[in-house]
Amino acid sequence: MNAQSFTLAERLIPSTYVQQAVSAKKWRENLIKTFIEQRKWPEEGWDDATIELFLNDLAHMDCNNFPENSGVGEREARFASGVKNSAGCFLVPMATGMSLVLCMLTIKQDRPGAKFVLWSRIDQKSCFKSILTAGLQPIIVEPVLSGDELRTDVHGMETQITTLGSNNIVCVLSTTSCFAPRASDSLEHIATLCSRHNIPHLVNNAYGLQSARLMHLIQEAAKKGRVDAFVQSTDKNLLVPVGGAIISGFDKGLLERISRNYPGRASASPVIDVFVTLLSLGSNGYKNLIYERKEMFKYLKEELGKIATKHGERILDTRNNPISMAMTLSSVNSATDSKRVSLLGSMLFLRDVTGTRCITGIEHKDVASYQFDGWGAHHSNAPCPYITAAAGIGMKKSDVDLFVHRLDKVLAKLKIRSGPLTPTSVEELGSSGRRSTGRVVNGESSEQGSSAGTSLASSKDSLRK
Ligand SMILES: *Cc1c(COP(=O)(O)O)cnc(C)c1O
Repeated sequence: MNAQSFTLAERLIPSTYVQQAVSAKKWRENLIKTFIEQRKWPEEGWDDATIELFLNDLAHMDCNNFPENSGVGEREARFASGVKNSAGCFLVPMATGMSLVLCMLTIKQDRPGAKFVLWSRIDQKSCFKSILTAGLQPIIVEPVLSGDELRTDVHGMETQITTLGSNNIVCVLSTTSCFAPRASDSLEHIATLCSRHNIPHLVNNAYGLQSARLMHLIQEAAKKGRVDAFVQSTDKNLLVPVGGAIISGFDKGLLERISRNYPGRASASPVIDVFVTLLSLGSNGYKNLIYERKEMFKYLKEELGKIATKHGERILDTRNNPISMAMTLSSVNSATDSKRVSLLGSMLFLRDVTGTRCITGIEHKDVASYQFDGWGAHHSNAPCPYITAAAGIGMKKSDVDLFVHRLDKVLAKLKIRSGPLTPTSVEELGSSGRRSTGRVVNGESSEQGSSAGTSLASSKDSLRK
């Protein structure tokens, strides 16, 4: 309503109400004005009504929404197709895997003869598939065990570079955020290697944006050597539905070329999701969530540690992974039965525990024509089975409490029944009675049907491919 409408409204309702409405409207409009003026993420979050008011105003600028619009001919139905800020990043309406594909294809344009991607192994299928989808050839460099932790085989990488020739390599694809016991890749070493051999360096930072430590690693690596671009998921970091990724980097030219290579128009939904969420949280709200996540990580480690001690297990020492942790499951399998670790996964899943992974270390998986021993463990010789848990943004204390409580009970239950397992209940059918696929599995190679898995434990997990 404009000023005249408000004055007219005073004929209908008491003017005090009208005046209050006018000042509330002014307050909201001021927030919007300041935002447009300063182009800065407000520290304090906005209420939904302000966000809606703003979105409505923006939508009014879309010619498709002009009242007199005659919809003849081709028209761009969007009013925003990407967010660009001075730090050099933009949001694409594709998840992380596809965004990595876009980056690799753009990098490849400058290196026509190259076809290899040097990849520090991480057992996350979409990550590996992105190399294959880009039509490139992965060279798998398996991480090395250092104590409990899996670290980048920098030496192995250098050997591959020498063997293959740097001109034949499209890029090195490293990963920061990953399931323990794998640590973040040694970004500084890789970045140095890349600048020495003049090879582009692409970083998969899927859920690393929520960790100050991982972001710091990227920054330091870029100072010491070469980091061309890094990609992070919007849903894993910014509490929005799946559908977007942020491609960032230190080379403006490259970022522009990547964004130009996106063919055609795009859905604005992922951008609006992020835009609305950031306005709603405010930078203070987001910083709080980041702080809380870090506290939750400590809490989860403490609580899981207690369960580990109680059941004769231990937390693996993986100090270079600030998000995920692992607890051994050494005493779960008996000499005659190696399926108990998988069964544990099924039992937890049936008790509504999601996101953990029970890793046997003996599973084999084929992805396209590539064979992975010890699939799930990022390594072909995992020393023992284990379970992982992660403290992701938005995690609450009650999530941790429920998880450790249920894990405690399930571990106790498995120990009581130390004899051979007979499938007497749903949960046992889930893992030992049926063919199982996906991550919480029992060692079978299970490439076909991985998304139509019959295992109760894996049905949800296959969604997280
Ligand atoms: C989630 C994830 C991916 C794939 O992300 P999508 O957004 O599903 O494409 C790749 N790598 C890692 C390490 C991930 O955690």
